[in-house]
Amino acid sequence: MTDFGKITSGIIEEFKRLLGNSAVIYEDKQALENYSSDEAGGKYYSHMPDLVLKPNNSKQISEIVKIANKERIPITPRGAGSGLAGGSVPLYGGIVICLERMNRILEIDKTDLVAVVEPGVVTNDLCRKVADTGLYYAGYPMSVETSFVGGNVATNAGGSKVIKYGNTGHHVLGIEAVLPNGEIIQFGGKRRKDSSGYDIKHLLVGSEGTLGIFTKIFLNLIPRPGKNVDLLVPFRSVDEAISNVSTLIIESKVLPTAIEYIDHLSIILGSKYNNIELPFQEEAGAYLIIQYEGQDKKELESIYERVGDALLNSGALDVFVADNRTNSEKIWRVRRNWLEALKFFDPYVPTGDVVIPTSKIPQIVRFVKEISKEYNVDIPIAGHAADGNLHPAPMKPQNISIPEWKVISEEILSRIAIKAAELGGAVSGEHGIGFIKKELLRKTKNLQYKIMKSIKVNIDPNNIMNPGKIF
Ligand SMILES: Cc1cc2nc3c(=O)[nH]c(=O)nc-3n(C[C@H](O)[C@H](O)[C@H](O)COP(=O)(O)OP(=O)(O)OC[C@H]3O[C@@H](n4cnc5c(N)ncnc54)[C@H](O)[C@@H]3O)c2cc1C
Repeated sequence: MTDFGKITSGIIEEFKRLLGNSAVIYEDKQALENYSSDEAGGKYYSHMPDLVLKPNNSKQISEIVKIANKERIPITPRGAGSGLAGGSVPLYGGIVICLERMNRILEIDKTDLVAVVEPGVVTNDLCRKVADTGLYYAGYPMSVETSFVGGNVATNAGGSKVIKYGNTGHHVLGIEAVLPNGEIIQFGGKRRKDSSGYDIKHLLVGSEGTLGIFTKIFLNLIPRPGKNVDLLVPFRSVDEAISNVSTLIIESKVLPTAIEYIDHLSIILGSKYNNIELPFQEEAGAYLIIQYEGQDKKELESIYERVGDALLNSGALDVFVADNRTNSEKIWRVRRNWLEALKFFDPYVPTGDVVIPTSKIPQIVRFVKEISKEYNVDIPIAGHAADGNLHPAPMKPQNISIPEWKVISEEILSRIAIKAAELGGAVSGEHGIGFIKKELLRKTKNLQYKIMKSIKVNIDPNNIMNPGKIF
């Protein structure tokens, strides 16, 4: 349904009374524009909202949603806007509910080992606060410095530590949400087990704002790991790097915290952007960045010696060990700033996000190389090799116009995503479907798509909650 109601001056006055003037943005084009796109690329994928509201609590959100539902006005929930699938773009205008004012860490419960937070808390602020208490929150997307916890839950964000700790959904014990009819409801809470009927909190995880707005989140905390060590391992070829992932996991006898993959072109662009030089950067076809955690230095030493020997025996050019903060930071900077580096050299670079079984990584990497040749387009790849989640990023050649490039780059990424699905993977590993991948979702998961849609229709019959996303 796209036949939505209009926002009248009477409705705006009602919102002003409810939230206060400073929490209501309308008519000011420049201010509204800040809420028209996300990191998927404002240059292509944007739409202006009619109104932006900045509520302070769940009751206010409930009142807003009741009015919107009655008047059939679309609502787009927005976290930090760091999404890469266009999820927080208000496709049909209407209201953007911006959650930045709901940024309180409500409780760090050291007895039940649970953090209770509002959705607008910046992920790294939570990580730091939790660490101060001797505990650990293991959610860690690469956008940890900017993204909000609510956005992480709504996209089921991943990141580099998924092999050991799981993605954001694994840490969620409970969610309070405002449903599309304005009802405030809590699923789960401060408990680690619950077999009482359907697990609806995990249905909400990854729902990308289409089923309701999260207003409170209960997160699992664990003891803080003692120390960590990072290894930078250059390989002459992509195949050698990638085929080592399973060996690594078996040989180390403990789960690594991260095995990140970064290819030759990414290394060259990343080292230029970050103004650093990495060992073997001209010869290496690819690097793995590997992290282990352990209780003390001795434990870490025994792990990296074992792993180092195994890697050198299976084609690593060398194994560089960083066991202090400065060296670790240097290693991680190129990987963490990977997208910024690509965007610096090409502001029109889109980011793919496919997931495949780890054994199929060499096949998908080879497929990307073939596509790169076929289209005569550079496609650097980085990603979370440990869990089979790769980000191919086609870069715009100089001679292709911007409108042409939108079509070509979408075609390239679609072909890669469909190949991933054929290999037993999925069209999104962690960024979500948003509106950019909804056709791919329908094509590759037709039956599952129908079930998802029937859930959406039941919970949101007026289709006001983030319309045009996922479906
Ligand atoms: C440099 C960079 C690195 C990144 N690295 C990673 C990575 O390693 N792993 C990863 O998974 N992602 C990564 N991302 C993508 C992005 O940061 C994540 O998708 C993140 O979880 C989005 O959070 P956000 O607060 O910015 O949400 P937004 O972008 O604002 O919103 C994302 C979706 O969530 C919905 N939403 C937001 N808040 C709520 C709420 N309270 N209730 C209901 N729905 C809500 C929105 O409607 C939208 O559909 C990266 C992005 C960038 C720019």
